[in-house]
Amino acid sequence: MAASSSTNSKAQQFISGSWSQGAGAEAFSSNPAKPDEIVAKFHHSSEADISAALDAAKKAQSDWENLGIIGRGLILRSVADVMQGRRDSLAALMTREQGKTLAEALGEVDGSIETIRYHAASSRNSFGATFPSSFPGEHIEVVREALGVVAVITPWNFPTQIPAWKIAPALLWGNTVVWKPASDVPALSSAFVEAFQDGGLPAGVLNMVLAPGRTAQALVDSQMISGISFTGSVPVGNTIARSASDRGVKIQLELGGHNPAIVMPDVDPDFVATQLVVGAMSGSGQKCTATRRIITVGKIHAPFLAALAEKVDKLVVGDGSDPSTTTGPVVSASAKSEIESAIADAVAQGGRIVARSKVPEGPGHFVAPTVIEGNMELRTCKEEVFGPVTTVMNVDSLDEALLIANATEFGLTASFFSSSDADIARATKELVAGLIKINAPNTGSELHVPFGGLKASTFPGPREQNAQSVADFFTITKSVYRRIAPRGKQND
Ligand code: NAD
Repeated sequence: MAASSSTNSKAQQFISGSWSQGAGAEAFSSNPAKPDEIVAKFHHSSEADISAALDAAKKAQSDWENLGIIGRGLILRSVADVMQGRRDSLAALMTREQGKTLAEALGEVDGSIETIRYHAASSRNSFGATFPSSFPGEHIEVVREALGVVAVITPWNFPTQIPAWKIAPALLWGNTVVWKPASDVPALSSAFVEAFQDGGLPAGVLNMVLAPGRTAQALVDSQMISGISFTGSVPVGNTIARSASDRGVKIQLELGGHNPAIVMPDVDPDFVATQLVVGAMSGSGQKCTATRRIITVGKIHAPFLAALAEKVDKLVVGDGSDPSTTTGPVVSASAKSEIESAIADAVAQGGRIVARSKVPEGPGHFVAPTVIEGNMELRTCKEEVFGPVTTVMNVDSLDEALLIANATEFGLTASFFSSSDADIARATKELVAGLIKINAPNTGSELHVPFGGLKASTFPGPREQNAQSVADFFTITKSVYRRIAPRGKQND
């Protein structure tokens, strides 16, 4: 669609402390609620721009590492302060460019600032280790050093939170970064980087390129990087894993999910529906952690379905900047048509729609939050449909529910609703997911707790978010054995 009006937000690449237009094709981002409104016009970075960003990061790395971890932490703290002062404008821009509601955007910006503060403060923690030695007088210590230049590649669905989780610890540990955000959010990504610049980060320490995936492959394939932290889809994650493993580059991959929630008969159906409307529909269902399949056990099915349908019917879909909106648009026209085609296929396969909220008239990328009653054969149960859609199934026993819950290539999050300690203990043990929620929605995590999936949802390795596990990812370690040498007489 040709977009007409422009609000001219800045969107440029950032290399070696300078803003510039990339040498690639011209592009624009637009408001998902009003697709005619251009948010930013920009030029993609070319492979030569990516190469310049890598050179800048390489050049800046040793001075940055030599500043020391406390010095780096102080700069990160000042970045968080700058971001705090821009909280409202960042959130408003997030709503305009990505579509989520203003309340969701404010929550994300606050979480991003808090993430940067948390990593800044962790500069004063002890992350090394000392060991006893068999030799009296010998000291053994494990020291950490930066990986070097790190590539950070992120999706559009949490456009500041995911970058904060990766960039803040990468920088804290003395790495320099080339960041490639998703092309849907160039203006917000530029505003995010501007806070790092204005917070006093030296030139070259954080660089940003704006590039489509096919060009960004040059970043992944570069011989100059020592680590890649990526969040996105399984196919792209697999491509990155193949390229990196050839060169021994360290990788952290947080990928897709098809997250189940099991509802046992001994809980209040209305309570569960309140939790799972959040799990399935918040962020317009565009969360890797979202509740995609709900498996009810026994007779709770009918009252739960009725309660869920009632709550979904009350959702207000609309422009995220309107305070009455509970569910913003999805990110793009192609995302909307992909979600709607998956719903249509599920219905053609025998799924029954039990709830579908109203959507406003007009050209926005609005998708009605939809609940389907069905089974594991539906497309919505086989593919990660990245929108406000969930499928509810009914089984007779916990055994069956656990089998169905785990019958997917993914293993990101799982929820379990029950008042029985024994059932909770069994589900915790048998659900194959990196994040398990008991009597709570699949979505949401604490910014300081290790986060990541199992099976195809991840690449095994140190988790994200937690200070200790990110230290394990973003550093190399050396075990140093140190003895005292007797002084040689010839040197006196
Ligand atoms: P995506 O994989 O299409 O893109 C993610 C990023 O990778 C984008 O910046 C994209 O431009 C870039 N990219 C694409 N091809 C590339 C290549 N060959 N080389 C380098 N970069 C490349 O994913 P998306 O559609 O932006 O995001 C949605 C997906 O992300 C879903 O599958 C969702 O589950 C997943 N996700 C996972 C988590 C998690 O923590 N596990 C969190 C959020 C989103």
